Amino acid sequence: MLEVTVGCTHNSCTFCTYYKGHPFHPAPLEQVRADLAEIARFRPGTDHIWAAGGDPFSMSTRRLLELAALVHEYLPGATISTYARVDSMRNKTVDDLRALHDAGYTDIMIGIESGDDEVLAHVNKGYAAADVVEQCGKLDEAGLPYNCIYLGGIAGAGRAEETAARSAEVFNQIRPRFMYLTTVTIFPDSELGAEVARGDFEPMSELERFREFRALVAALENPIVVDTRLVTNSIGFVAELPADREECLAALDKAIAGFSEDDERRLSRRRAMMRTI
Ligand code: SF4
Repeated sequence: MLEVTVGCTHNSCTFCTYYKGHPFHPAPLEQVRADLAEIARFRPGTDHIWAAGGDPFSMSTRRLLELAALVHEYLPGATISTYARVDSMRNKTVDDLRALHDAGYTDIMIGIESGDDEVLAHVNKGYAAADVVEQCGKLDEAGLPYNCIYLGGIAGAGRAEETAARSAEVFNQIRPRFMYLTTVTIFPDSELGAEVARGDFEPMSELERFREFRALVAALENPIVVDTRLVTNSIGFVAELPADREECLAALDKAIAGFSEDDERRLSRRRAMMRTI
């Protein structure tokens, strides 16, 4: 992991406290150079770099190409993965994205979170569903592979199936190859946590989060690997869609049918104990 930026350019999603107090800035190139020299000295042969930070892909194409050249000065042939926001692609053309792919950026992780405009606006994600289709469509056109994160639960109580259906409509127009299917834990010190405390937002139950997963897995049409094995989830599986769909839906149906009030209490208690790092 190589720090290339600090903080997040947006830093305003209402559920996120991750970079509070850390304004966005690119790491100085001398620092990146020193870190690369250290990697090359202690781990020669390193062939893959995670370019760390909130959304390093928001940097200009020129800066990202410079960064790739620096990586290859110390680690010839190493490939590079990094985080991007959906709007990180706004300042890049399809040709820019092709050039970045050719320069060694082999995959991008995008926290899309949802394809539901109501949800995206409510959590102040900073873009709309149409932007997801347009900007990810540029990655598709450029042939630059990308992965994504779906954040279940942020639609709030009573909206599991509806928000999954709206999101699937968006995901069915783009071609991410992998999805972390996760679910929100609302921290008291986040803006969303304050909404909950005021009684303005009712969180989704644990059972409803299972139903949201089910609805999404049922509706995704393009080939994608879905992975729920994350600490915030109460059910863990990897499914290669569409091949594993029926097996996966059967497992989710079984989990939903057997879900008791005790399960709800136990999983809610577990979630309440989760803390950010
Ligand atoms: S874009 Fe990501 S890192 Fe930035 S505020 Fe939103 S969730 Fe947090």
